[in-house]
Amino acid sequence: MTDIFQRTKALFEIPEGVIYLDGNSLGPLTTSVRTRLASEIKDNWGNQLIRAWNTAGWIDLPNRVGDRIGRLVGAPAGSVIAADSTSVNLFKALTAALSLAGDGRRTILSDRGNFPSDLYIADGVIRTVDKGHSLKVVAPEEVEAAIDDSVAVLMLTEVDYATGRLHDMKALTAKAKAAGVVTIWDLAHSAGAIPVDLTGAGADFAIGCGYKYLNGGPGAPAFIYVRPDLQDKVQPAISGWLGHEAPFLFDLDYRPGASIERMRAGTPPMLSMLALEAGLDAWDGVDMQAVRERSIALCDLFIEEVEARCPDLVLASPRDGLRRGSQVSFRHREGYAVMQALIANNVIGDFRAPDIIRFGFTPLYIGFEEVKAAAAVLERVIKEELWNRPEFLKKSKVT
Ligand SMILES: *Cc1c(COP(=O)(O)O)cnc(C)c1O
Repeated sequence: MTDIFQRTKALFEIPEGVIYLDGNSLGPLTTSVRTRLASEIKDNWGNQLIRAWNTAGWIDLPNRVGDRIGRLVGAPAGSVIAADSTSVNLFKALTAALSLAGDGRRTILSDRGNFPSDLYIADGVIRTVDKGHSLKVVAPEEVEAAIDDSVAVLMLTEVDYATGRLHDMKALTAKAKAAGVVTIWDLAHSAGAIPVDLTGAGADFAIGCGYKYLNGGPGAPAFIYVRPDLQDKVQPAISGWLGHEAPFLFDLDYRPGASIERMRAGTPPMLSMLALEAGLDAWDGVDMQAVRERSIALCDLFIEEVEARCPDLVLASPRDGLRRGSQVSFRHREGYAVMQALIANNVIGDFRAPDIIRFGFTPLYIGFEEVKAAAAVLERVIKEELWNRPEFLKKSKVT
């Protein structure tokens, strides 16, 4: 197993001396992405020009990328498409899910651990659809009890972005199904982080992010999954031409395309899509179960090291690896400044308000040595109060 990860580590171009624990926010550059973009720009955009949509197969790339992502999240070929951003895909999934749920049910159920953008999108969908829906946001541990036949859609993020707490997708989806509730899972911190089995869980819709664990590059296209037998029942709210049954007939009337095609809207950002495809090369031949075992071991070691070295830090993540995604978070009242001092010392994680310092662990390029070295730097930052400097206390726009 170690051999797999020695091989994958060599695929990444992480700057010398940097311990990168933020692949959960922005995956690092791979050589494959760098060389692929250079050649696509020169050969296909540069020389093929418009012909590349056919000659280089650009037009079907969202499907090919979707299928490669599908392998990582337990989705069959033809059920995932790469498109738009996670937020926009949630809009598409939620509007579709509400119409499938029918008018008798008016509640969208979510939890306080969800990423704020997801809750904001739900708010916007409710105003746009304007049929009297409401968003019910409960504590994560109260979700199961809140699933009943008043709920139209259960909309959850599997792994809490701040703490790494993991929902039981299978159990919650089963309960929702039994109550006639349509399910949407946000896999932003799951895809490429933990094994996901959308088919086995029976999830209806899923969305996720291309620039986090999938290493597609800043602002990479996201993805959307629709359960195969639901695809032809979905009426897309963003009914653009590339999701049309026959875009190049230029009919004046909209007819949704077959299957997952209809979840496309407009022309994809092709350079980003190509980068995402090349980023996925790092996942070739990688077994998610092996990733999971190694990620739990890395996170466990980090918790052990940090708790031994920095008793003032409070663990914000579940201690049990099976209840956690691929990240570890601690609380510190000056968490922002602590993280800036860490970054200044080449250990890159991030900060989430109000007091969380967050570290993502990706076995593809992080090993046990880096975990120990990062904990040692954190100890120095805390013990020597390296964080207590004006330049570290001043907040940037992106934290
Ligand atoms: C990162 C993340 C997003 C990001 O949405 P964008 O539209 O790509 O900005 C959405 N949802 C969750 C749960 C996330 O963690």
